[in-house]
Amino acid sequence: MSGFLVKPELPYCKGCGHHLIVRNTVKALEALGASPLDVVLVTDIGCHGIVDGNFATHTVHGLHGRSVALAAGIAMGLPPEKKVIVYIGDGGATIGLQHILEAARMNVDLTVVVHNNMLYGMTGGQPSGLTPTGFRTVLTPQGYPLPHHDLPRLVRDAGAPYAARVVGLGDFSDVLRQALEVEGFALVEVLEICVSYGVKMNPDLRLKELAQETGYEPGVWTGARPAFRPSRRETASLLEMPAVPRQYSSPLEGRMALILAGSAGEGVQQAAELLAQAAMMAGLHATKKGSYPVTVGVGFSTAEIVLSRDPIFYHGVPQPDAVVVTSADGLANQRERIRRMTGGVLWLDASLPRPETGAEVRVADFRGRAGARNAALYALLTVLRETGVVPPEAFLEAVRESPIGKHVDLSGW
Ligand code: SF4
Repeated sequence: MSGFLVKPELPYCKGCGHHLIVRNTVKALEALGASPLDVVLVTDIGCHGIVDGNFATHTVHGLHGRSVALAAGIAMGLPPEKKVIVYIGDGGATIGLQHILEAARMNVDLTVVVHNNMLYGMTGGQPSGLTPTGFRTVLTPQGYPLPHHDLPRLVRDAGAPYAARVVGLGDFSDVLRQALEVEGFALVEVLEICVSYGVKMNPDLRLKELAQETGYEPGVWTGARPAFRPSRRETASLLEMPAVPRQYSSPLEGRMALILAGSAGEGVQQAAELLAQAAMMAGLHATKKGSYPVTVGVGFSTAEIVLSRDPIFYHGVPQPDAVVVTSADGLANQRERIRRMTGGVLWLDASLPRPETGAEVRVADFRGRAGARNAALYALLTVLRETGVVPPEAFLEAVRESPIGKHVDLSGW
């Protein structure tokens, strides 16, 4: 038994071309002298993907069509001696075509093996974007009417240094080996016919003939390009968050959850983010979630802010300690939550009717004092002044230092 396979019996239908792809992949890896633990196999949804359990390599099972995006992330975080291989079907390649083209355009160092059996096998034999003209499927019994995508050509046009198409018969391990040796993006399309659906619907077709008749030209196309390989330092710097300097302190023990509800276009989300930043400047942990309609410029805008002395592992707010409402849109959006409050404080703009609630209600003229555009900022400053949970000076400093700082007149606040 090969060192790459922990189970030699593959899980496919008898006669399925996937068997040969696995055997040829193993042969190519062995020819390269690779070790199973230097290989990451990323599979997609489809019959090909159930092979994960057979491989002794690292394996990752992706969502339908997304395996190339997943593999690109893996490849960019690994040193070049590791091999990242994607197994994907023609259906997955159709769904995730943009991921394939982007990985080719960036020349990410991975090898994509497309199991093109001309249809979606696992889901019942429907046609994909790689189904050739005239091929009969359960949905096109008279023959598929459209031309197929030419994947090797598409990835070459996108900049891939290696693309190949092989008829999936016999030994094609050399092509896979070449692809695996490429430092950069390589794609090998393997032509097959699904014996369960394709052969039944097209009993007279032979794979070799199909390749000729449909313009599925076998070949290898190469062109040198340096692989896109960000250094570890670059990757780390992309993920790094700038540290917030701690200059203030907070008396908060435990956790406080606050809802800020207002109107779109009135700076609600930014005000909430600045509160979170001020809280971090005072040594607290903070989370902020925004909620607003898809048409972001009209209707309500609500933010949920959690402040805590300890790290926050749950940022939901089933029962807020405070709700701050600055407009009629915000009140309409939060009315039910406010009605259910049995404690805590509701800060309400003076222009609004008093809603039904068990919370203590405090009324202030946020809009009149700061204008609609800055009502959310002013309301949070009011809350901080009344509770002291975060020093108001920290919040004012966060506002001043932010991109909106020079547009907000804080004098008199
Ligand atoms: S259904 Fe088709 S693609 Fe799936 S294992 Fe069987 S022959 Fe292969």
